[in-house]
Amino acid sequence: VAVTIGRMTVAPMPDGEAARIEALSRYRVSHSEPLKALDELARLAAQICFAPIALLQISAGNRSLYRAKAGARSDLIGVSLEDPFYSWVILSRDVFVVPDASVDARFRSDPLVAAHPGIRFYAGVPLITPEGCALGALAVMDTEPRLLSSSQADALRTLAAAVVAQLELRRKSFELEESKKLLADNKERYELIVRGAGDGFWDWNLETNQIQFCPRWKSLFGYGEDEIGTHPDEWFKRIHPEDVESVQAAIMSHLLGLSPHFQSEHRVRNHDGTYRWVLSRGLAVWGAGRSAHRMAGSVIDITDRKKSEEALLHEVLHDNLTGLPNRALFMDRLKRALERARHCRDSLFAVLFLDLDRFKFINDSFGHQVGDEVLLRVARKLETSLRPGDMVARLGGDEFAIVLDRLRHVGDAIAAAERIQRELAPPLNLNGQEVFVSASIGIAISLSHDDLPEDLLRNADTAMYRAKKQGRGRFQLFDEGVRESTTALLQLESDLRWGLVRNEFRVYYQPIISLDSWRIIGFEALLRWQHPELGFISPLKFIPVAEETGLIVEIGQWVLSEACRQLRAWQDEFPSDPPLTVSVNLSGKQFSQPNLIEIIRRTIGESGLDPSSLKIEITESAIIENIDSAAAILKQLKELGIRISLDDFGTGYSSLSYLHRFPIDTLKIDRSFIARMKEPKDAEIVRTIVALANTLGMDVIAEGVETREQIIQLTGLNCEYVQGYLLSQPIDSKAMRDLIEESGYKVAGQQITTPQTANSLYSY
Ligand code: C2E
Ligand code: MG
Ligand code: MG
Repeated sequence: VAVTIGRMTVAPMPDGEAARIEALSRYRVSHSEPLKALDELARLAAQICFAPIALLQISAGNRSLYRAKAGARSDLIGVSLEDPFYSWVILSRDVFVVPDASVDARFRSDPLVAAHPGIRFYAGVPLITPEGCALGALAVMDTEPRLLSSSQADALRTLAAAVVAQLELRRKSFELEESKKLLADNKERYELIVRGAGDGFWDWNLETNQIQFCPRWKSLFGYGEDEIGTHPDEWFKRIHPEDVESVQAAIMSHLLGLSPHFQSEHRVRNHDGTYRWVLSRGLAVWGAGRSAHRMAGSVIDITDRKKSEEALLHEVLHDNLTGLPNRALFMDRLKRALERARHCRDSLFAVLFLDLDRFKFINDSFGHQVGDEVLLRVARKLETSLRPGDMVARLGGDEFAIVLDRLRHVGDAIAAAERIQRELAPPLNLNGQEVFVSASIGIAISLSHDDLPEDLLRNADTAMYRAKKQGRGRFQLFDEGVRESTTALLQLESDLRWGLVRNEFRVYYQPIISLDSWRIIGFEALLRWQHPELGFISPLKFIPVAEETGLIVEIGQWVLSEACRQLRAWQDEFPSDPPLTVSVNLSGKQFSQPNLIEIIRRTIGESGLDPSSLKIEITESAIIENIDSAAAILKQLKELGIRISLDDFGTGYSSLSYLHRFPIDTLKIDRSFIARMKEPKDAEIVRTIVALANTLGMDVIAEGVETREQIIQLTGLNCEYVQGYLLSQPIDSKAMRDLIEESGYKVAGQQITTPQTANSLYSY
């Protein structure tokens, strides 16, 4: 569509100008380089059309890129940028003829027509590329009006096509040169990538889709020269199924220009069916166009490197004693199991946390080598007791964790825990020694599908801790209640540590009375904890925590030195014959403390107390738990001159038959028997205990005496000593000092006038 501006009609701008410019750039035509072939074609055009001048013009936008003119009339050069015909030719897409411009409204006022050189005749044909872009025009002109014969029109078309063919030829030769240059530019990189140190070389013609593999490539995978064809599938079909996608992606990414070269590590199947790891690298060759027509590269055998990488990875992710997955790998697998469970709603899985019972004891008494062997055997047993798909890992020390996948219901997890415990039950024979191993197991079931792996493992751990508290070889299922009580327990533990630092502990004393003399013969030291927020906390509650955390050692030592110091002060203030005694409770955990005897000896020494004034109270279960060392420890205590009481007698194994093997001075009958003494049967038990103790030469103390009836009964049973609320609650040292005085003990130096009895003290 023409636009009229002022006196002349301006030719419209052709569409697709951008495409035209782009197409032109590929021909690289410019005025600076005369193209003889084009000049020749222009000359031919003039000749065929009997025109005084022919003009070949190529332009981009309003910029003329090339002009060739030929013909006799050298004065006819004016047609150029302002050439009014040019745009019309381009738009016409075919031969465009103006027989007499001076009578044509479109051109008559143009200076070329109206003034010099006075153009009258014009015939032009556009130059159209194979892609359909008009690059310019080939035209003939005359200063005389005339017509163009149809054979001349055909000739013009043919010549225009010849011009385009020339240009195409030129473009191709440029591209060829360019790819050579590209190769040269990249020579170093190319050498590195394509011809890498003597490896199997391949060259892929992307246009014919044929690939040449060098003999080294073929032999690398165990093939002979003739066994591999030229189809790319010779390579692709041998790539490990898991690697195919990544290789193809790497090739595509390079061909699309997203990566500077192709590089991929993948497995290729050998002739013998095994796989070989290779590093494959390649470089595509682009023409001046957009698509690559060739790609070449090489392979390097990296099987050894991969194997050592895999070994390293294995080492990093496995425990080196048992070869089981370690915590890192376990957590990874757990995460995946959770992800899977999220997708299939009805699958259930469980995490088992397993801790060997008494492993420290095994290690300490049989040595670390045996300890390691035990761990190894346990690992194998765990492996065999699992189904395929489950995983067992060693988290460290004697801790193992198991993921049970695809369970139908919670019962399956419990069954697995029972199976494991059954599996572990038979003793291990280690160098002729029988070692019994059991494990406490905590089970956490994944019910909500958005559990975190860490949470699950921690829940299983918490449940295991619970199981352990119930004794050996048990399992526990995690539930919220467990979580809460555990948090409270952890809080208690940290408070205990602070309690020690902040001096929140006190020793209270409860008197022990002789029914013969009605005098206080001594005291039991009982620990008290005044918590700043929670107030008074019973030793029954915090001593187990202190034992669990090992803090009992420190606390127990403090109680001992405090009690010794206090007794020494009272003995000095209230001298008597025999002197007052103090009983200090010793926990089973302290019993296994290696330097126990030494610490007790030193503490007594520091207090200046005579060892015979100290009694150590120990329970039956503490003895049983330390059965191997108990006899020796008790013997050593005896040798120091310390006396020994068996506490809470009757609640544990209650087997007097073994008691004579231990150097026990006093039996403390548990208060549960005293409380039930109204029952003839229970009274009979107490009588038997007292009689037996007397036979074995032991004293007997009745604990928890709360009523006068009990006192009367005990007197009748020949039980000499009593302790209980009826006589006094445990009280602090100040109150106890006053009680000692009130009960008739005279302060040192004072004259004893009349022997006093304790009667006045007690209300019964
Ligand atoms: P135990 O050694 O059997 O101490 C006697 C417990 O019975 C004390 O409880 C005492 O207050 C309580 N008792 C005394 N007379 C009566 C009575 O007539 N009726 C009733 N119902 N109870 C009575 P306590 O002080 O709460 O101590 C509880 C346990 O905590 C002790 O039992 C002992 O096993 C342990 N314990 C206390 N202090 C220490 C300590 O310093 N070290 C260690 N390892 N354990 C301690
Ligand atoms: Mg006691
Ligand atoms: Mg007791």
